[in-house]
Amino acid sequence: MAKKFVRAIFPGSFDPITNGHLDVINRGIKLFDELIIAVGQSPIKNPLFTPEERVEMIAELITDIPGVSVETFDGLTVEYATQIKANAILRGLRSLTDVQYEFQLAMTNRAVAGVETVFIMTSEQYSFTSSSLIREIASLGGDLSNLIPKNVHDRLKKRLKK
Ligand code: ADP
Repeated sequence: MAKKFVRAIFPGSFDPITNGHLDVINRGIKLFDELIIAVGQSPIKNPLFTPEERVEMIAELITDIPGVSVETFDGLTVEYATQIKANAILRGLRSLTDVQYEFQLAMTNRAVAGVETVFIMTSEQYSFTSSSLIREIASLGGDLSNLIPKNVHDRLKKRLKK
């Protein structure tokens, strides 16, 4: 039987992208033929970067990873997945708290659109890394160089100087 072409989306806010996200992307692409990082445009609490800025930073980081691209999307994740004919949603898991929330989300997405969700467990060193924590530490002037890529770190420094 011919192997099915699998196009997956990795949806999220990515405000900003962290080394934890990048780790999920690098391991995720090994499972799929194509992976589209889908930056949600819906408003989040205290955003730091615009969706366009988030896309720019992600684009800089994925140039050397074949099969991976980045887009923005509006509205429901499953609607976007269906629209671009993606057959899977990729999500990362850091903790049991994540599991509880993601379980509900994945069940709903499968029920309403028949889209399957694939989970990748975080690498231990990133299990506490989240974009919201990055935004908080950055606003207090903490050192984030181990948790976020250099291009993101540079932009953060510039943004917080303003
Ligand atoms: P959302 O607001 O949709 O949770 P995020 O940008 O915070 O968007 O996260 C997108 C996805 O990446 C989620 O599945 C989240 O669990 C996962 N993720 C975030 N940080 C990490 C990390 N450090 N390790 C593994 N997965 C992560």
